Amino acid sequence: GELMTGVHMRAVVFEEHGDQSVLQVKDLPAPEPGPGEVLVLVEASGVNFMDVYQRTGMYQVDLPFTLGSEGAGTVLRFGDGVEGLSPGDRVAWTGVPGSHAEQAVVPADRLVPVPEEISTEQAAAAILQGLTAHYLTHDSYAVRAGDTVLVHAAAGGMGRLLTRIVTHLGGRVVATASTEEKRHIARADGAVRAVAYSDAVAAVREVSDGAAVVYDGVGKDTFDLSLEALRPRGTLVLFGAASGKVPPFDPLRLMQGSYSLTRPTLVHFIAARHELLERAGTLFGWITDGVVDVAVTKRHPLDGARDAYTELEGRRTTGKLLIIP
Ligand code: NDP
Repeated sequence: GELMTGVHMRAVVFEEHGDQSVLQVKDLPAPEPGPGEVLVLVEASGVNFMDVYQRTGMYQVDLPFTLGSEGAGTVLRFGDGVEGLSPGDRVAWTGVPGSHAEQAVVPADRLVPVPEEISTEQAAAAILQGLTAHYLTHDSYAVRAGDTVLVHAAAGGMGRLLTRIVTHLGGRVVATASTEEKRHIARADGAVRAVAYSDAVAAVREVSDGAAVVYDGVGKDTFDLSLEALRPRGTLVLFGAASGKVPPFDPLRLMQGSYSLTRPTLVHFIAARHELLERAGTLFGWITDGVVDVAVTKRHPLDGARDAYTELEGRRTTGKLLIIP
């Protein structure tokens, strides 16, 4: 949209929790960067399931709330104490809200410089999910060559990255997805098997004695079968709840295979600036080397945010959706 720096800006806001209809595009006063903060011109912002949890109230946020958990664009200006940045620099960020807007204020220590080889759109599409895929495959569980790895919702934003990265690390991906079209995408990304959710355990047992790790961002509907697919001493990485929250759980169930269960979230894996930059460096390398494919499948303007989330929550998307302010 038309930008009036210093006067106002358009942003996707909600004032109460609810379905997609609570999202409104509002004119807000243009934000001012304080000490240590940077005002950025948002050129693209990723659509994520986390935004859904914030909107529905599953994650607590203060209202009114400006949506958008990641973005990329250029530096406009900054407050006192910011060093090493100049107006016009291309940057990407995650871990602060408010990216579905024409402008955003981001703490300088959360900004990642975007290298020349990476487009601003690619950076916006990859920063949140790519950093997540990095820590999930290196820290929540360190994937090793030969591991059998079950990846749910493999044609989605996270799923496509995980399938590519696990395959790159030498793991064998058994993928799940709800439609044959989506399963085809998973096979093209390297999955050795791509099946319906109901066939996941059988497919894992066909190629191995059980999964070394299960990456489960679906939650309620898949939790039981994820446990069932593990090999003894396997790890269940529950990292989301696209189908809803997993109900209370008896730890004694882990004794069936001396399983490990972890429920990680990105913020704890990028808290230190050096860790943020190291992970981003590896991610950008994966993009330039073609290890991951930043699959932007659709772009919406701010006014299209309701449609974007209706598509994501309705399981109608593959890969990544962007909001282009
Ligand atoms: P996706 O693009 O993966 O979209 C969600 C997918 O989940 C759908 O396409 C669908 O695939 C599957 N799904 C299964 N059941 C349902 C359901 N009942 N309703 C909707 N979708 C369902 O989204 P993202 O890549 O943005 O996120 C994937 C998961 O990763 C989310 O749970 C998200 O919260 C989590 N995440 C966690 C992070 C962390 O650090 N913990 C960071 C980033 C993301 P299909 O049709 O094939 O079943």
